[in-house]
Amino acid sequence: MRLVLLGAPGGGKGTQAAQLKDELNVPHISTGDLLRGAVQAGTPLGLKAKAVMEAGDLVSDDLVLGILEDRLAEDDASNGFILDGFPRNLVQCEMLDGLLTRIEQPIDVAVNIVVPEEVIVERIASRAQQEGRADDNEETVRNRLKVYREQTAPVVDYYGERDLVHTVDGLGTIDEVFDRIMGALKG
Ligand code: ADP
Repeated sequence: MRLVLLGAPGGGKGTQAAQLKDELNVPHISTGDLLRGAVQAGTPLGLKAKAVMEAGDLVSDDLVLGILEDRLAEDDASNGFILDGFPRNLVQCEMLDGLLTRIEQPIDVAVNIVVPEEVIVERIASRAQQEGRADDNEETVRNRLKVYREQTAPVVDYYGERDLVHTVDGLGTIDEVFDRIMGALKG
């Protein structure tokens, strides 16, 4: 299965993907994780991405597409994948379609995890204390939510026009949300 996870930052995409990958037996591919890995490793791409990520802005489409294309070329992605954090704007939607058409692996389904913004702000604040991610400070979070509203929210309609989107309530326990997602995928 080739699945795209949609939803605001802090909405639980990564948490759900960690369980979904075992259930569906496909890798979890997070562009945020790939970019953080590049920053950590100090690669040229990581050096370019670091300040942009710390400001909560989007890294350039070409850089992220490149890192994603490399990841999708790995063996474990040949039977499907869970995409988390990509596409994040409409240009990336078109780029992804082009890439997936080329490798003959079109998206099967998109799951949109919906969580109210005030809950997101709380969740990220508690994650900040636990994990200390550089972009989890208050000012950056505010910008990430703005970027989400302005650039990423339209991605839901992009897949919606093709009838690929299942909308799932992201409130409740991790298991409750997981069950809702599995129910939507089976239904
Ligand atoms: P979150 O969804 O919690 O904001 P991510 O781990 O998905 O966190 O992304 C962290 C940061 O990495 C983003 O704020 C952005 O700077 C960068 N990033 C991740 N994915 C993309 C993407 N598809 N395009 C551009 N930038 C991205």
